[in-house]
Amino acid sequence: PSLRLDALTIFPEYLDPLHVSLVGKARARGQLDVHVHDLRDWTYDRHNTVDDTPYGGGPGMVMKTEPWGDALDEVLADGYEAGAREPVLVVPTPSGRPFTQQLAVELSARPWLIFTPARYEGIDRRVMEEYATRLPVYEVSIGDYVLAGGEAAVLVITEAVARLLPGVLGNAESHRDDSFAPGAMADLLEGPVYTKPPSWRGRGIPDVLLSGHHGRIARWRRDEALARTVAHRPDLIARCDPAAFDKKDRET
Ligand code: SAM
Repeated sequence: PSLRLDALTIFPEYLDPLHVSLVGKARARGQLDVHVHDLRDWTYDRHNTVDDTPYGGGPGMVMKTEPWGDALDEVLADGYEAGAREPVLVVPTPSGRPFTQQLAVELSARPWLIFTPARYEGIDRRVMEEYATRLPVYEVSIGDYVLAGGEAAVLVITEAVARLLPGVLGNAESHRDDSFAPGAMADLLEGPVYTKPPSWRGRGIPDVLLSGHHGRIARWRRDEALARTVAHRPDLIARCDPAAFDKKDRET
């Protein structure tokens, strides 16, 4: 079963990287079915207007209801006609819920995601109110900073979701040990990794990784993951279930 993605934007070319690398290959293999639409196709005036001044005043412009409404209606109708089901609207916005690995896992289990990356000061609120009566709407932020538009957020979310789809990564195990992955290293950051050559500019690699001793290697990886998490993300340690730690962890 493939995942259908639709994205509506005034900069369709901004989403060209969806043809590259892992996401591009997933498309070529039919694991992802991506449809990028130009929002201006649903404007009917000479200037293809998608924005207007904000009610209540203030700086900036607001994206108008009509192009978004007409575009979403048509994209939904076309998708249903093509057999897509259970759409979810994914709305990038700095005022959304934080995008996390857990949310990526949740979205990767859905059959159809529709992205609405905005520009200017965002989209007239009534659009989301209207579609929330018809389908789940996820307002999602990729971090505590403000981008000029939501297209980069669509690339970020799509890449995180696509690599979780069955068969997309060459090695199905390879996201098991990732930072934030659930499991033995639950909620910890991943520690350092090494490859050949064994010595580079006088720098060797930790002896334990050459020991062939799986137990000791696992212990070392966990120690490194803990140390890195304490250093960079103490908030993640604070959130961990105390039962997830053993005596050796506490010594680290
Ligand atoms: N006035 C809005 C606010 O402060 O919430 C910011 C609008 S921003 C200039 C324009 C668009 O970029 C947003 O509507 C959204 O689509 C996207 N965007 C900006 N920052 C984002 C973030 N951290 N996560 C997701 N999307 C973001």
